[in-house]
Formats: sequence, C-alpha cells, structure tokens
Amino acid sequence: MLILDTSAFFTMDWIPDEDFLCPPGVVDELERYEDPRLALWDERLKISDYTEDSMKKVKEEALKTGDLGRLSDVDLSVIALALDMKGTILSDDYSIQNVAKSMGIPYRSVGTKGIQKKFKWNYRCIGCGKWYKERYDECPICGSGMRAHRKK
Ligand SMILES: [Zn+2]
Repeated sequence: MLILDTSAFFTMDWIPDEDFLCPPGVVDELERYEDPRLALWDERLKISDYTEDSMKKVKEEALKTGDLGRLSDVDLSVIALALDMKGTILSDDYSIQNVAKSMGIPYRSVGTKGIQKKFKWNYRCIGCGKWYKERYDECPICGSGMRAHRKK
C-alpha cells in the first residue's frame, strides 16, 4: 500500500503496481490546480481519511524533528494516513521523509528506480467509442468527451 502526497502526483508519469491511497487534502489540492491527472487517474485513485489520533502523533513527531513549520496540514495528513494504513509514503518532500523516517514509516522517492512500471494511456470517446492514442478535448468524429484507459 502506497500513500501518495501532492508532489508525487505532480511528478509521476508512471503508475505503481501496488494499491495506492491519498488523504482527501491531496485531491483538494489537485482540484485547485485543475491537474489533468485527476481525470487520468480517476479509476485507481482511492481516498481515505486519517485518524485524529495518528495526526496528533505525527504533529508531535514533526515538532521534535523541527519539520512542523515546513509541513502543511495536507503533508501531515499524508504521514498520518501512512501510519493508519501501515503504508509506504511516496513523496519527494524532504520534511515528509524526515518525519516518516523518525517514526519508522517506510517511504520512497518518486524518482526511485526499480519500483515503477512505465505505463501508457489510451483514450476512448465516451460518445462513439472510438479509441485514440492522444487525448483530444473532444472527439474529432462526434465531439463527445474522452476517457483515459490504461493500456494493458
Ligand atoms: Zn466520438
């Protein structure tokens, strides 16, 4: 189980084999930036809330390591969720990694080689059902929207 932070979503061009989760705040941030990945990832993106108990532990630890001021509430919630789910954090944020390390929570950098699998997307018109290799705002044939599908 991987727990993704916002930076992971912004920099990833691959999709993990494992299940992955993020706290609600990450999705809020992606929505705020209108990140196109939200549409691409929709089927596999799972959202889970963290417990207040874990959040409290994370805040206490971040205070100890001196990272609290550098971490947003969303960042903290990523670590809290990883604690709840016993997951591995996927983040390039140094402060997140530092607190995770201090709490014994496993983490990986987004750029780490060896864990990823390159993936490609195909796009399918939701109107006429035609497949495309590239994404268009609307289908050139019928003008409907498109949906991303992961290539097998
Ligand atoms: Zn079409």
